[in-house]
Amino acid sequence: MKLIKVEAQGFKSFADRVVLNFDGGVVGIVGPNGSGKSNINDAIKWVLGEQSFKALRGDSMEDVIFAGSKTVKELDQAEVILTFDNSDRAVSVPHDIFTISRVLKRGKGGNEYYINGEHARAKDIKEIAMESGISKSSLAIISQGTISDIAEASPEHRRAIIEEAAGTSKYKDRKAEAKRKLDSTEEALDKVRTIIDELEKRLIPLRKQAEKAKIFIEKSEELKSIEVGLLVEDLQFFSEKNSFLSKEISENSEKINDLESKLSLFTTTINENNNQKLNLEQEADQLQLELSKIESEIHQLELRQSKIEQRRQDILNGTIQATTEEKIDSLKQELSETRTKIDHYSKFEETTEQTIKDNTISLNNLEREIFRIISEKNDKNNNINSARTKLAVLEEHKQKRTNLYKGTRTIIESKDAFGKGFKGTVFDLIKTETEFASAIESVLKSALQHIVVDTPETAVKAVNFLKENRGGQATFIPLSSIQPKEMRNEHKVALQGQKGFIAIASELVKVDKEFEKLRDFLLGNIVVAQTIDGANKLSKLLQLRYMIVTLDGDIIRVGGVISGGQKNDNDDSLMKLEENIASIKNLIPSLIETKQKLEQQEVELSNKKQDLISSLTEWRNELANTKEKRIKLVDKYDQLRIQLDSFSKEALEFSKTSDIAVELMKFTTQKNELAANLRIKRTRITSLGNELLPYLNQKSEIEQQLYTINKENSGYETEKNKIEMILRESQKRLTEYYQLTLESARENYKLELEINNARELVQSLKNELKLLGNVNPDSIQECEEVEERYNNLKENEEELSQAKDTILEAINEMDKIIVNKIQETVKIVNDEFRYVFQSMFGGGDARIEYSDPHNILETGIEIIAQPPGKSVKNLKLFSGGEKAIIAISLLFAIIKAKPIPLCILDEVEAALDEANVIRYAEFLQSLKDKTQFIVITHRHGTMTKVDHLFGATMQKRGVTSFFSVELSKAKELIKEVEEQN
Ligand code: ATP
Repeated sequence: MKLIKVEAQGFKSFADRVVLNFDGGVVGIVGPNGSGKSNINDAIKWVLGEQSFKALRGDSMEDVIFAGSKTVKELDQAEVILTFDNSDRAVSVPHDIFTISRVLKRGKGGNEYYINGEHARAKDIKEIAMESGISKSSLAIISQGTISDIAEASPEHRRAIIEEAAGTSKYKDRKAEAKRKLDSTEEALDKVRTIIDELEKRLIPLRKQAEKAKIFIEKSEELKSIEVGLLVEDLQFFSEKNSFLSKEISENSEKINDLESKLSLFTTTINENNNQKLNLEQEADQLQLELSKIESEIHQLELRQSKIEQRRQDILNGTIQATTEEKIDSLKQELSETRTKIDHYSKFEETTEQTIKDNTISLNNLEREIFRIISEKNDKNNNINSARTKLAVLEEHKQKRTNLYKGTRTIIESKDAFGKGFKGTVFDLIKTETEFASAIESVLKSALQHIVVDTPETAVKAVNFLKENRGGQATFIPLSSIQPKEMRNEHKVALQGQKGFIAIASELVKVDKEFEKLRDFLLGNIVVAQTIDGANKLSKLLQLRYMIVTLDGDIIRVGGVISGGQKNDNDDSLMKLEENIASIKNLIPSLIETKQKLEQQEVELSNKKQDLISSLTEWRNELANTKEKRIKLVDKYDQLRIQLDSFSKEALEFSKTSDIAVELMKFTTQKNELAANLRIKRTRITSLGNELLPYLNQKSEIEQQLYTINKENSGYETEKNKIEMILRESQKRLTEYYQLTLESARENYKLELEINNARELVQSLKNELKLLGNVNPDSIQECEEVEERYNNLKENEEELSQAKDTILEAINEMDKIIVNKIQETVKIVNDEFRYVFQSMFGGGDARIEYSDPHNILETGIEIIAQPPGKSVKNLKLFSGGEKAIIAISLLFAIIKAKPIPLCILDEVEAALDEANVIRYAEFLQSLKDKTQFIVITHRHGTMTKVDHLFGATMQKRGVTSFFSVELSKAKELIKEVEEQN
């Protein structure tokens, strides 16, 4: 490749356009001082991408733009174009001829580059310069006064020059690149190893944790497969047992109630009986006292009477001498007394018969009353039995929740799974009076079964639970989401005092404070009216904006749609069910109380009946006795009459009955009455005693039974409590721990082991799980992830380690190449160096040497130069000319060893003597085949040996122009220069 043209305008002193054409070989540029020769050097450097304004001899880059002179105005831009012949394709530009150019505009900053007139980047230009080899070597452009720098440079700088010549930069770049790779590989390797170390530390406990978690999961699954089946069996078994115990307890409770009421009845009866007996005994004692008194009176009277009687008999028997008158008188006396007795007995009989009649009527009435009481008591008994049966049916209905939707039932049964989030059904939370139950139920209808929860999250959890367990559907009301509804104030005011208006529905129900929002959400804007007619009026008044419900449950909806009519009194009604249970529970004790009162009445009346019967018997006996006595007296009377008739035929005139007889009769009657009464009382006392005995026996029997049943029931209660706890715990375990409903557990888990073995196994698995302590289930996945990462990193480490070895090998290889190339170049350069040196100095010796021969890779390069007869070792001690000769010798040696395409030499031979200038020029000629030289010179010797000469002048002061010159002209120019000097 050749530089064939340099064009410049506006660059430094080139105010006018300058064009220099080259044709290879050695071109000399001559001219007076300051004529602008070196500016050509600068121009070429500038186009090739020089960025340092100092290297261009300025204070700023703008200093390269023509600054104006006395006669020529400053310019606004500098432009330099280099044209190359690329027919050897040394550069990858696809043209035989191509240009590169650079433009700088004043005040604009920045530089513009062009390749073949097309915009290009500075980088593209530098690449071309590199490719061409012009900027590859620091020896391609040697500026004025810098040639000695080669000799005086540091060993390291000289090594750089040798390396350029040796062409090791490619390998050094590759080595640097490989080193960067090595650094990054080692860095990556370090990082990977650090992470591997960390992971290894983490993996040790993590593997243990994961192993523990796996065992935990395995055992938990085994536990679940057995325990769920066991729970299902237990729930089934204990539920049945619980139902059985409930039934037994309830039956026993009924028995206890019955026995207790009987016991209380017996106790009352026994007490009454005792009281009655006591009273009767007191009365009997009183009667006995009176009787004794009368008997003593009678005894006195009878003594007196018997004396009179004896005398009368003596007279009538003739034992005593008596007259007929006396005999008749005695007979009359006897007759009169007998007659009085007969009358007395007759009268007694009459009153006794009346008493018997009255008592018989009373007895009949009493029996009728007792019969009525017994049938009433039986009615009550039947009522109690049917109420108990109905209650049992309703309670079973309530307990089994057969009237609830499947989903609602599932959630209630599994409420433990939702903890405090579950609040209950609307029905459980809202209560009202019986009076308003139809209205409220009619409004709420199926909403009564909606389940109230705390938040929508609980509702979502419950819906998923229903899905997972195929537990049916349910509706949920999350308290945190609902807003209370209310009527507008003016509407509330309008309702006040309206006929038929009862209240707002929300005012008629009772709720806990927590559920007031729920109450207002469901019922806050619903009006309750007395009747459907009233409701219609209210609906119109409120312009059909609110729902109105009547006490019967008829509804007028918002907008006016009316529904209602006869309601079925069915048990499906949730609110009615509760109400029915409560009313039956209230009714039973009052029925029992009535029944007990009737039983008491029955006992009382039966006692009365007994009293009546025994007094009737007594009176009948008394009547019979009296009759018997009267008949005997009538016989006696008849005998006496016959006796009297035998004494006298005169009509019988009764003599006055003696006072004693009358008194005796009176007392005897009283005595009989008292005795009869006393017997009645005694009989009653005896019968009361007899009656009491079975009561006492039965009472102690009942007490015994009560004791036994109570004991049995408390045993049942204890067992039931235990069972209920087991049921609660089992249910809780199923729903809370396993999140299963009983139904889905039953469908999916069957107990295959014998129940006791299963229980033992469950316990031992639980113990084993407990012994595992804290378990982290996430550790399994974490461990897998860490293991995977660890293995990947291990692979990475292996790959990186191999990559490192490969890089190290490559670096080693490149080091060998670099060492070889340097050694080879040093050898060639040394051959040439000695030759050029000896030619220039006419003898002596010169060579380059390694500062450290043991480290060719990094060693500096020393110059050993010995002009003839001199043994100066320090290069600095040589003269300027000597230094220039050493440097030029080395320059030529290197160019010869490794030719470069272009070399610009700016007055490098200035310090040489004439003979060496000639030698210098001849060396140029000997090297020109491989290297194009542009030499700026003032020296005659040089001028004579170049192939072409350009002269530089400043015809107008301050502006350079070039022209081709002949040698003679050139000499004149030089003369001018010499004269100037
Ligand atoms: P010598 O033989 O003394 O080395 P030379 O021919 O190499 O001289 P240069 O160094 O190429 O001269 O040119 C320097 C001249 O260029 C100076 O006269 C300087 O004033 C002029 N010059 C440099 N920069 C500018 C610029 N920006 N505008 C105008 N003239 C400039």
